Amino acid sequence: MSRPPRHLADLELAERRRAVAELGEREFRADQLSRHYFGRHTDSPDDMTDLPAATRAALAGELLPRLLTPERELSCDDGATRKTLWRLFDGALVESVLMKYPDRVTMCVSSQAGCGMGCPFCATGQAGLTRNLSAAEIVAQVVAGERHARVSNIVFMGMGEPLANYKNVLGAVRRMTDPVPSGLGISQRSVTVSTVGLVPAINRLAAEKLSVTLAVSLHAPDDEARDELVPVNRRWKVAEVLDAAWDYEAVTGRRVSIEYALIRDVNDQPWRADLLGSLLAGHLVHVNLIPLNPTPGSKWTASRPGVQEEFVRRVAAHGVPVTVRDTRGREIDGACGQLAASTAPGRAVG
Ligand code: SAH
Ligand code: SF4
Repeated sequence: MSRPPRHLADLELAERRRAVAELGEREFRADQLSRHYFGRHTDSPDDMTDLPAATRAALAGELLPRLLTPERELSCDDGATRKTLWRLFDGALVESVLMKYPDRVTMCVSSQAGCGMGCPFCATGQAGLTRNLSAAEIVAQVVAGERHARVSNIVFMGMGEPLANYKNVLGAVRRMTDPVPSGLGISQRSVTVSTVGLVPAINRLAAEKLSVTLAVSLHAPDDEARDELVPVNRRWKVAEVLDAAWDYEAVTGRRVSIEYALIRDVNDQPWRADLLGSLLAGHLVHVNLIPLNPTPGSKWTASRPGVQEEFVRRVAAHGVPVTVRDTRGREIDGACGQLAASTAPGRAVG
């Protein structure tokens, strides 16, 4: 399997300076290129008027290869939500979603093409893993978003399991949060890494001492239901996943987000709400309930409205903050992987 072309967003600033020197240019050219990419969000040599023309073409060709090509673009909510399906250099497809709110702009990025975790309710899980994205392929999704609106928040809730692509995801987080010209200068607190619950990787992330928000996709408070909904639970049980989350809370002082897709008659019973509330009570935590977005051919659907309200009430009764996530982008296949799943490879844009 060939690797994506090298891009300056795969490298730290010092490595970019070395790469530029190896190409026979002065090291400060790396800073100039970085400022164009991370500060002005351009990779077009025509925009780089502070560099000599020949140098521009040579350096951009080597360090700013085009990594993403739009395959399809869809918007809804009067243009406030914009979803893009990207084709990568090897034909793999990933998607990103830009969501504009009154007080913030959130970019939802993919960390892998496909996913190997096999959660049965998730469109991405059904297709299996194609490959890990490079750090630059992840960052490029945010840079593309920056061309439409100033991105304030980033969530790793597109395709893929970020902690199964640890090294590149961490590189991407650093490029997103380091100041210009090293990176995009987005606050660490505004970046959320969502995981299915890979315990050793959660521990490793805690040890990085970053201020990024951890989201744990729990989906059930008991191992019986979670073994089915989240197959990796057969390896790391609910109790171990929550222990890792509480360590993350203790080390970083950050509120942990618990993701819970409500599925009718599968995980929405009152006793499961009570158990969830009692497991989380007393922690710095927030529960995000997500009405299931059924995937094509799925036997499962979202909970009935009354049942959802009862679930919220019971969790809240334990003093645990809980909200129902707004379902932005539903009509454009908003849930994880659904746009890619509905697009046969090889189709044209539009
Ligand atoms: N792999 C990571 C991040 C990507 S999935 C994870 O699982 O956390 C992002 C979120 O979307 C997860 O909470 C996931 O459980 C949820 N999700 C996936 N498919 C969904 C669906 N059909 N309906 C509602 N939420 C879904
Ligand atoms: Fe992978 Fe997350 Fe989908 Fe599970 S929910 S298959 S971990 S992308």
